[in-house]
Amino acid sequence: MSKTILVYAETRDGKLRQVALETLGAARLIAGDGDSIRILVAGSNITEAVSALKPYGGEIIYTVEHDDLEHYNPDAYMAAIEAVLGVAKPDAVLFGHTAIGRDLAPLVAASMDAGQISDVTAIENNSGEAVFTRPLYAGKAFEKRVFVNGPWVVTVRPNNIPAAEAVEGVDTSIEDVAFPAPSLRSVIKDVVRKTTGKIDLSEAKIVVSGGRGVKSAEGFKPLEELAELLGGAVGASRGACDAGYCDYALQIGQTGKVVTPEIYIACGISGAIQHLAGMSQSRVIIAINKDPEAPIFKVADYGIVGDLFDIVPLLTQEFRKVLVS
Ligand SMILES: Cc1cc2nc3c(=O)[nH]c(=O)nc-3n(C[C@H](O)[C@H](O)[C@H](O)COP(=O)(O)OP(=O)(O)OC[C@H]3O[C@@H](n4cnc5c(N)ncnc54)[C@H](O)[C@@H]3O)c2cc1C
Repeated sequence: MSKTILVYAETRDGKLRQVALETLGAARLIAGDGDSIRILVAGSNITEAVSALKPYGGEIIYTVEHDDLEHYNPDAYMAAIEAVLGVAKPDAVLFGHTAIGRDLAPLVAASMDAGQISDVTAIENNSGEAVFTRPLYAGKAFEKRVFVNGPWVVTVRPNNIPAAEAVEGVDTSIEDVAFPAPSLRSVIKDVVRKTTGKIDLSEAKIVVSGGRGVKSAEGFKPLEELAELLGGAVGASRGACDAGYCDYALQIGQTGKVVTPEIYIACGISGAIQHLAGMSQSRVIIAINKDPEAPIFKVADYGIVGDLFDIVPLLTQEFRKVLVS
């Protein structure tokens, strides 16, 4: 029986997030012949995001646009999603495993009386049966899960599933769905951003991360310089955040963000299990630590034993020669 798969395309400040294309990529991996992939975009100013999505296909893009959707608010966004669920009647709904996706997915699963598989890092299509891989025990083990009954709700971890590619000659229709404007229990008056980084940490392809070994807020400067040169983002261990060297928004780990960049450069980070929970799935891990026995070297693909204040500027200098010519 054919399925309708609804992809929640996440936006930020009116722009499509990379994870939206990865979520669409996940839908393509799941979809079989005759299945319909549809996309939902909700927000207060979504014209640019919808235009950016169009070349990637999907049978229908449902749009819900309203001022109440300017800032994320679960009551408002659930009202928007439920309005679309009523029209699309999907068998599966897919989200990115982001702060917003993690918040909405269980609400949608409860609303649809659906099963949920979260934090999916790989999907196989086994003769029509979707098999979802997700990490357990902070990445020490993986499980493969399948749905026995529908409907389904799935969240996919950013930077793991290949993003959907644009489709030639696609004919996607756009359907505006009226926002039911629920009476909100709370509204956001203002958002004060603590990080000014241009690249979203959870989506960055390269992360340069600092730990307590960085020793001060000033000590993060060489890391910021390297990250900027490489087009990456700066992250941190909880040790560095607790010491007040940087904001908790940068914390990676069990109680921070989970990142899976192509390259993770850990500078002055010991490699505690709680930190590894947030970065051990990175494709290539480079550790810089002056202690050759530091546990981070056990997960690192490349290790440099030395003082980060010597090594990081040297790396920046050498990368600059190659990248800026
Ligand atoms: C419930 C719970 C949840 C937690 N959640 C998280 C989490 O989400 N994320 C997280 O990161 N931690 C988390 N922690 C804390 C975790 O256990 C560690 O305490 C923390 O990760 C240590 O941070 P660190 O590696 O920066 O500091 P340290 O363990 O102090 O390591 C500093 C490292 O820097 C090296 N170093 C020092 N100077 C230099 C130098 N000049 N050059 C090179 N290397 C140098 C040292 O050799 C050392 O290995 C959690 C703990 C608990 C109990």
